Amino acid sequence: MNWANEVAKRKEFIINDLVKFIQIPSVLNEDTSTEKQPFGKDIDDSLNFMLNLAERDGFTTRNIDGYAAHIEYGEGSDLVGVLCHVDVVPEGDDWTVSAFGGDIIDGKIYGRGTQDDKGPTIAAYYAMQIIKDLNLKLSKRVRIILGTDEESQWRCVDKYFEVEEKPSIGFAPDAEFPMINAEKGITDFYFLKEQKEAQIISFESGNRLNMVPDTAVAQIECESDSIEEMADDFANYLEENGLEGYFSVNENILSFNLKGISAHGSMPDVGVNAALYLCAFLSKHYKSDIMEFLGDICLNDYTGKKLGLEMSDSESGDLTVNIGRVTYNSKNGWNIGFNVRYPVTKKYEEVKKRIEKAADTNGFRLSGENNSNPHFLPSDSELVTILSKVYEEQTGEKATLLSTGGGTYARALGNAVAYGALFPGDEELYHQKDEYIKIDSLLKATAIYAQSIYELAK
Ligand SMILES: [Zn+2]
Repeated sequence: MNWANEVAKRKEFIINDLVKFIQIPSVLNEDTSTEKQPFGKDIDDSLNFMLNLAERDGFTTRNIDGYAAHIEYGEGSDLVGVLCHVDVVPEGDDWTVSAFGGDIIDGKIYGRGTQDDKGPTIAAYYAMQIIKDLNLKLSKRVRIILGTDEESQWRCVDKYFEVEEKPSIGFAPDAEFPMINAEKGITDFYFLKEQKEAQIISFESGNRLNMVPDTAVAQIECESDSIEEMADDFANYLEENGLEGYFSVNENILSFNLKGISAHGSMPDVGVNAALYLCAFLSKHYKSDIMEFLGDICLNDYTGKKLGLEMSDSESGDLTVNIGRVTYNSKNGWNIGFNVRYPVTKKYEEVKKRIEKAADTNGFRLSGENNSNPHFLPSDSELVTILSKVYEEQTGEKATLLSTGGGTYARALGNAVAYGALFPGDEELYHQKDEYIKIDSLLKATAIYAQSIYELAK
């Protein structure tokens, strides 16, 4: 079977359908949500767009109250699942083309969702369509499952798997090739201390635990006349550390504002944590054991070494620690929010024990723990073996397995990996301006998915 040829015959359809799909601005909008359109009209339109293609082409479909849907083909008791999503993140700023235009320039289709995840969704859809067109015999059923809330809370897959069967094997075309078979465990928790500081009025930094905070603001009561000295010290500190920020005085209240660099919580070393840098400065001038803890022990401790959390494995690398939110006020005291990603071969119980010990050692009360276990398929598992073989046949490249600290859609599917559609060397533009997919990559991914679905379901 020459899969690439079959894809080439359908090239115009694939491109046209992706362009129309991109033109639906399917961003979460709960203002327009109804019982049958839980995430708003635009997301529902994009779900129906895919279901209309499926009906046009004669597939069986089911829509689960607008939360999710599937497109099914084949027969048998076993089920192969391909999990995609039709929602996109907001366009953001600074696009040089229309974010929802679907413009084609120099062999690239531009628009929000071309990489994440509408391009890969269309590729997976046409992969299944090719198998149906060619009347290939399958011994299993195949479902393309369409999520609608992947970019927010995954309420779509939660609802879907409450009422529908879980596939026995599958993949999620929502990341990169060759494939991600190892996703770290993710745990969030808070260190609390209800103590009142002498001079600190408030401290506020960060919105989400899974992001490195890029601003921190502290208000301090000043008692001496050394304000100018403090302003100089702060300016010097910012300069020494290559940071930006400002300092202001109002009556006898000093405000410190420090800018860091945001990054995903799975890569704390890529960002600059504004909360920790501000604490490191303030703890030199105002006595606070908590600010000392944050500025001394936690600053740049990306692998949790000083916290006693350090662990790693060859499958997925180091445990990582991100402090995503730090707040203080005189009423509630300190609240420090952590996002920790631990290696795939480690158990949560072991991580939890160490977290409890770190809280205890440093005098905090631990609160709000929640955990998502690692997701890992060994390299010799049936799924990884089959998908590696397909990838290598189609590309001529070795299928080197990847790991991530992020959580991909594969973990919602169970016995599954994240598989494309971004190729090694392609520019990654998820959630960024001027997102595009190369038409060549789109077609190549379609061929890989067609053969993969066939091999898994034949
Ligand atoms: Zn995605």
